[in-house]
Amino acid sequence: MQKRVEDFMAKVIEKNPGEKEFHQAVLEVAESVMPLIEATPKYKNSKILERMVEPERVLMFRVPWLDDEGEIKINRGYRIEMNSAIGPYKGGIRFHPSVNLGVLKFLAFEQVFKNSLTTLPMGGAKGGSDFDPKGKSDNEVMRFCQSFMLELSKHIGPDTDVPAGDIGVGGREIGYMFGQYKRIRNEFTGVLTGKGLNWGGSLIRPEATGYGCVYFVQEMLKTRGESLKGKICAVSGSGNVAQYTVEKLIELGAKVVTLSDSDGFIYDEGGIDKKELTCVLNLKNVKRVRIKECAKEFGCKYFEKKKPWNIKCDIAFPSATQNEISGDDARTLVKNGCMAIGEGANMPTTPEGIKVFQSAKILYAPGKAANAGGVATSGLEMSQNSMRLLWTREEVDRRLHDIMIAIHEQCVKHGKEGKYINYVKGANLAGFVKVADAMIDQGLV
Ligand code: NDP
Repeated sequence: MQKRVEDFMAKVIEKNPGEKEFHQAVLEVAESVMPLIEATPKYKNSKILERMVEPERVLMFRVPWLDDEGEIKINRGYRIEMNSAIGPYKGGIRFHPSVNLGVLKFLAFEQVFKNSLTTLPMGGAKGGSDFDPKGKSDNEVMRFCQSFMLELSKHIGPDTDVPAGDIGVGGREIGYMFGQYKRIRNEFTGVLTGKGLNWGGSLIRPEATGYGCVYFVQEMLKTRGESLKGKICAVSGSGNVAQYTVEKLIELGAKVVTLSDSDGFIYDEGGIDKKELTCVLNLKNVKRVRIKECAKEFGCKYFEKKKPWNIKCDIAFPSATQNEISGDDARTLVKNGCMAIGEGANMPTTPEGIKVFQSAKILYAPGKAANAGGVATSGLEMSQNSMRLLWTREEVDRRLHDIMIAIHEQCVKHGKEGKYINYVKGANLAGFVKVADAMIDQGLV
């Protein structure tokens, strides 16, 4: 089997040179699904995995815009429409200087399996730009978003491709892009999710990824007779996912001791409380300052240019970016007694780190399962838009919670290895089967 995976990966690497994050994401899936493919003639003979790793469409475009000094700036825009076998393309837009084709292809590929796991009819996509919103004025961000949408609007639509937010794309950016789409197309449709509440958004969408991740970890803990109450949690990031992960953890009686950004992390030994969280939300979402400022406000410790993984914790919630937990970080977490990992971010653990967690037999939830609550609630936003209805907060939260429980059940069903649940294998297999069968049903697509 190892040889079959190696041969397959050699071709993927040759065809997609330099796209190391994409190779990493494909390898993880290939290792999980290859035994099933080899044992199932309809998958093997139809070259299903070879087809899945080839995006249905890749868009790359110029995004020119004017800064506040009147200088012309040029960024690169992308949309990777990976797979539409089970529904319209769906996936976030990321604005960050590290964005390139390989990063977005990895995210789009992961999205296909994640969306399949949600039980909702959504294909997989991802997009973005190497534009950095940090330090830009609102007007500059608006001009960039309008230029980006001028091109993207030709390729998306409520039944074709429905983007959402991701790193660097929150409510403000979604608003500017939605306004421009509406102006160009002269239609008010649910073409983007993560919209403002009074113009088509869904309650709980901002909270959904963080809440969903916590719900998933709750289910994992139950398999070992444990709960979140009193557990010490280390969270990385301080953006959308991290903020609402912390909110739900506090609500459920856990103690969150860290938050971070790309400059460093804060350590609040006594636990971040509701008042401090409100302060974080204000500092990060309104004033848009660095996490260091929160340490000053709370009088807690701040560690410059460090990640929070050497802090003793029961559960870790990596919620910043890809590959933020190295093999060494994973070993430190395990040594310090960490019993569970809930990945709010996409692919935040390196392959070496995943092996460390799995050999230690701790509960390890990969992002494509644990953070699927975000896109699932985007799916619920699409449903509400189509019906021109707004569900209550309780209704959306209940549906989100049910979906996370269902995703957990699928992972258990496909990932059981004796007494241990391999959630990576479970998520990959469950996500794969639905998409693969749909592709086969639809002929040579
Ligand atoms: P935000 O932009 O709101 O926040 C991102 C956070 O991560 C910031 O604190 C940011 O710090 C930090 N960060 C970003 N890049 C790096 C880096 N290279 N090194 C260290 N820290 C970094 O994004 P989200 O919270 O929306 O997204 C976080 C993760 O969750 C991503 O992996 C995303 O793909 C994933 N995700 C998001 C979903 C959503 O609904 N938003 C859904 C599913 C997954 P700084 O400000 O310094 O850049």
